[in-house]
Order: sequence, then structure tokens, then C-alpha cells
Amino acid sequence: MDAVVIDGKKVSEQIKAELKVKVESLKKEGIIPGLAAVLVGNNPASESYVNGKARACEKIGVYSEVIRRPADITQAELETIVRGLNQRPEIDGILVQSPLPGHIDELTVTLTIDPHKDVDGFHPHSVGMLLLGRPTFRSCTPYGVIELMRRYNIDPSGKEVVILGRSNIVGKPLAAMLIQKAAMADATVTVCHSRTKNMKEICRRADILIAAMGRPELVQADMIKDGAVVIDVGINRVEDPGRDKGYRLVGDVDYEACRHKATFITPVPGGVGPMTIAMLLTNTVYSAEQRRLKA
Ligand code: NAD
Repeated sequence: MDAVVIDGKKVSEQIKAELKVKVESLKKEGIIPGLAAVLVGNNPASESYVNGKARACEKIGVYSEVIRRPADITQAELETIVRGLNQRPEIDGILVQSPLPGHIDELTVTLTIDPHKDVDGFHPHSVGMLLLGRPTFRSCTPYGVIELMRRYNIDPSGKEVVILGRSNIVGKPLAAMLIQKAAMADATVTVCHSRTKNMKEICRRADILIAAMGRPELVQADMIKDGAVVIDVGINRVEDPGRDKGYRLVGDVDYEACRHKATFITPVPGGVGPMTIAMLLTNTVYSAEQRRLKA
């Protein structure tokens, strides 16, 4: 039987509708959640991500502000902008869009963000709290993966989860989330990466296989076990002269081959992708709720 297709677009719309209700209730108490994005340079992909985030904010009633600066901004100028945002009570979330120009030390910029406003979940404070199993902002893409599983009643408790990729924004935080003694966690997690040997054998053990490598369709049907849950975080452009744009998007999983063997599978696009912004909004609204509690 073919796998159930996990509809990330639909779930992300549901989440946004739920957040809109929360925002309306916050507004009644005089609190408008606010998100500020700092965009350095004119990378078209970054521009499009930031615009997408701003549009999503607008739709659910979150105030958004984009601060644009040229690529030759100094480290000190960028940190001054972030410190200014830290001081503004109406800003609940701050994100500095990456990639940053080569002369900027990204970690130091992240360290400048007030951890109470770290809605990307990249600050070492958030990462440390996540590892300790304490409430904190969770990195949006792995948080989106967990939320997708939750809404499809896929409980990772006691399951063998194999994560392909160990990046700081996907693989590592996802592993940290799934090993916690907590709901939607309690999994036995293996993380594979570019130096892993026998990856195929390891993948075949997985009850839940999560691919986040940025390698087009590397996961083939012979790498998954019958009935596995397959979650594809990868987004890759592959040449396709048949398309107007000259390319199409594929994941790290050969979707057509694997969907006949899996019980659940995420498509690309329309799977994990739309969840990232939904979880960024979730973090921003959560931050505004914390502001209300403190008021
Ligand atoms: P990254 O390049 O930072 O990390 C890739 C990881 O994959 C590395 O840890 C590397 O060791 C591992 N890897 C690479 N080739 C491998 C191989 N052949 N075998 C085993 N491991 C291998 O990537 P990232 O930022 O984590 O992103 C991964 C993918 O997820 C990309 O396609 C990216 O576009 C996508 N992504 C999607 C979203 C979203 O859906 N919103 C968000 C972030 C990243």
C-alpha cells in the first residue's frame, strides 16, 4: 500500500489559523507580537525568505519589521542594530538572516541577541536549554518536523530514528529534541553524516528516517525498511529543461521509489518546507505570551 502523504502545507495553514486566534486574544490585552528581521546584502534567496516571513506575519496579525543594510556593514554596526532591537519591548523576536557576508562573525552576532527574543533558536542559550530538556525556543525546521509527526500521530517514543545530516540548524537540534525524556521524543536516535560508514544498513533499521543532507534523491527504496516513516527535509534544485524555470525542486529522498514502501512520507515541496515559517511564528507568538505574563 502507498504511504500516507504528510501535507505540510495544510498543517502549516492550520498552525497559522490557530496562531491568529492567539494573536487576536493578545491584542485584546494590548499586546501585538512583533518580529524584526535583519537582512544584510542583497542575496535574492535571503530577500525572498525574509519577505515570505514578513507576509506570513502580516496574515496572522503579527507586526513585522525588516531592517535592510548593505553587505559592507561592519560587525560593530550589525551588533548595534541587534542591541537596539533587544531594548525595544514591542519586538518579541529577532532574526538575523543568514548567510551573512564573510567578514561578519555570525556566532558573535547570534550571541548579541537577547535569548528571550531568539525565535530562530540558534543562540547557544537556547541550544543548551534544549539539550537540558528545558523549555526554550526550538530551532524552527526541526521543531516543524516534530510538529508534523505530532499532528499525524506518529509517536517517536521507543522508535529507532535515523537522522541523515548533522548541521547545527537541522540534524543536531533534531537529535537533541528526539532523545529527550518527553512527549514526542523518547526515541533511540542515530545521526549519520558525510563520514558515516554503512549508511544503508543503518537506514534500514530506522522506524523513522529523517533526511537532511542536501543531496538530491540520495535515499533510495533499498535504504528504507518496509513500513518506515520517511521525512524529507532536503530541498534541492535539479536541472529540468522541461520546466519554465529550467529546474525543479527535489528532496533528499527518491519520493516516487520510497512512497510504495513507507507508511508515511513527506513530499518536496509541500512537506517540511512550509513548516519552518509556521514554527517561527509559533516561537514569536510564544515570546509575546511570555511578555504578557511578565507585564
Ligand atoms: P548542511 O549542508 O549544513 O549539512 C548537511 C549535512 O548532511 C552535513 O552534516 C553532512 O555531514 C551531511 N551529509 C552531506 N552529504 C552526505 C552524504 N552523502 N551522506 C551522509 N551525510 C551527508 O545542510 P542543512 O542546512 O542542514 O540543510 C540540509 C538540507 O535541508 C538542504 O537541502 C536544505 O536546503 C534543507 N533545509 C530545508 C529547510 C526547510 O525545509 N525549511 C530548512 C533548512 C534546511
